[in-house]
Amino acid sequence: MSRPPVIIGAGPAGMRAAQTLAAYGLRPVLLDEAPRAGGQIYRQPPSGFTRRRTQLYGFEAGRARALHETFASLRGQLDYRPQTLVWNAQPGLLDLMETGTLAASSLSWDDLIVATGATDRVLPFPGWTTPGVFTLGGAQVALKFQGCAIGERVALAGSGPLLYLVAYQYAKAGARVMAVLDSGSMGDRLAALPAMLNQPAVLAKGMYYLAWLRLHGVAVHTRARVLRAEGGARVEALVWRREDMNDAQASPGPEQRIECDAVGFGHALRPETQLADLLGCRFGFDPVQRAQLPLRDPAGRSSVAGVYLAGDGAGIMGADAAELAGERAALALLQDRGMAVDRARIHTLEARLRRIGAFRQGLERAFPFPRRWAETAPDALLVCRCENISAGELRGAVRDCGAGELNRLKALTRVGMGRCQGRMCGVAAGEILAAAAQVPLSQVGRLRGQAPVKPIPIGMHCRQMPHAAPAAAPGEDA
Ligand SMILES: Cc1cc2nc3c(=O)[nH]c(=O)nc-3n(C[C@H](O)[C@H](O)[C@H](O)COP(=O)(O)OP(=O)(O)OC[C@H]3O[C@@H](n4cnc5c(N)ncnc54)[C@H](O)[C@@H]3O)c2cc1C
Repeated sequence: MSRPPVIIGAGPAGMRAAQTLAAYGLRPVLLDEAPRAGGQIYRQPPSGFTRRRTQLYGFEAGRARALHETFASLRGQLDYRPQTLVWNAQPGLLDLMETGTLAASSLSWDDLIVATGATDRVLPFPGWTTPGVFTLGGAQVALKFQGCAIGERVALAGSGPLLYLVAYQYAKAGARVMAVLDSGSMGDRLAALPAMLNQPAVLAKGMYYLAWLRLHGVAVHTRARVLRAEGGARVEALVWRREDMNDAQASPGPEQRIECDAVGFGHALRPETQLADLLGCRFGFDPVQRAQLPLRDPAGRSSVAGVYLAGDGAGIMGADAAELAGERAALALLQDRGMAVDRARIHTLEARLRRIGAFRQGLERAFPFPRRWAETAPDALLVCRCENISAGELRGAVRDCGAGELNRLKALTRVGMGRCQGRMCGVAAGEILAAAAQVPLSQVGRLRGQAPVKPIPIGMHCRQMPHAAPAAAPGEDA
C-alpha cells in the first residue's frame, strides 16, 4: 500500500492540493516551515495580532478568508505539520527540521507535490546592504506578519506588480511613501495591454493601485535607475536618475536624491526551485522569466516519476494560478495512482491556467527586465553579500579563468556558496556572467541546488550526514 502523499508548502498551491487529495479520501502530509498556513500572499499574522483581514489583504481579503476557512475545516483530514522546514530532498526521502525545537527527522515518500513558492528577484545596487534596505517581499512580510513598517519615510524601487502593491499597502498603513522608482516605462505597460486584457479584474486592480498612489500625492517615476543608497548606520537617502535600462542610446538624466529612512527594492520574483533540483527534476530555460525552471507537463508532472510541481515554485504565475495548479497536480497524482477523477474539472483547470499563462506573458512585457543592468553594474558592486564577492571579481573570473558556467564561477569565486546558497545572488551572478562572457543567459546554466536549502544549525546537520549527496546531472560539474 502506498504511503500518504506528501506536499511541501502550505500556500495557495499546497492548500488546494491538500484539499483535493482529502476530497478523494486520502490523508496527505502537508509540510511548511511557516507557523501558519497561507503562503506569501495569504500569510497569517501570529494568533494574538488583531489587524483585520481587509487591512492585511486588501482586495484579496475574501479569497484569504475562503482559503483559511476551507483549510481550517480540513484539519482532521490532513497530517499538517507547520514549522517544519524541508532542508534536503532525495529520491524517496525528505530531511526535515522542526523550526521551533530544531529537532531533525526524515520522512519517506512515494509521491510528492512541491509547492514551495517564490522569493524576490534581487538586482543589487551600490549600498544595498546598508541597514534599512529591504527587499519588497521583506517589506511586505514586515507589514503582514509583524504588523510594522520598515521605516517612516520609505522609498520603493525596482519593477513588477509587487512594487505598486507594496507602495499602496504601505501608504494605506500610514507610512510615508517618499517615491516609487520603476525601472520600466508607461510605454511598456501600453504595449502589454492587449495580452493583459484577458484578466480584466487583475488589470483593474493594478491600475487602481497606480491611480490611488498618484491621487494621494505619491511620486511615481518611471525609467528610474537607482544609483546608490547613502547612509551609515542606517540608510539616509536613495540616489537615482532617469535612464532607460533597455536602450543604451537614450541619454540619462541628472542625479536626484530622495531623503528616506528605509528602502524596499526588487525586480519581480524568482521561483524557489532548489528542492525540485535536489529531487533530480530536469530543468529548461524560460526566456520570458529569464530563469532555468523545472520542466512539467500541463498537469504539473515533473520529469521524475512521483514528483509534481505546482504554484510559483515552478514558474511565476500568481496566486490564482497557484490554487488551480495545486488542484491540477493533486488530480494528476490521483490519476497516476489509478484513481478515477473528474475529467471535466481537469479540462476547466487547464483552460484557466492557459488563460492566466497568456496574461503572465503580458505582465512580463509590462514590467520588462532591465537588460542593461549587468553591463552597467559597477565593478565595486557587492553581488554576493554572504561571501563578499563583487561584480568586478565575477568579471575577473570570466576574463582571467574563462568561467562560462555558473557552477564554475561559484567554484572559482565562492559566489552563491554562503548562507543563502545563491537564493539572493544567483540571478545577479548569472546576468553578470552572461554579459561578461558575451553569451546568452540560457547558456550559463543554474547554480545547482545544494542541501541545506536554507540555513540549519550545524549540530543537526552533522546527525543527517549519512544520506547520499545528489548526483550531478549529466554535463554538469561534479
Ligand atoms: C514575499 C512575497 C510577497 C508576496 N505578496 C503577494 C501579494 O501580496 N499579492 C499577490 O498577488 N502575490 C504576492 N506574492 C506572489 C505570491 O506569493 C504568489 O503568487 C502565491 O502566494 C503563490 O502561491 P504558492 O502556493 O505557489 O507559494 P507561496 O504562497 O509562496 O507558498 C509556499 C509555501 O511553501 C513554504 N516553503 C517553501 N520552502 C519550504 C521548505 N523548504 N520547507 C518547508 N516549507 C517551505 C513557504 O513557507 C510557503 O508557505 C508574493 C510573493 C512573495 C515572495
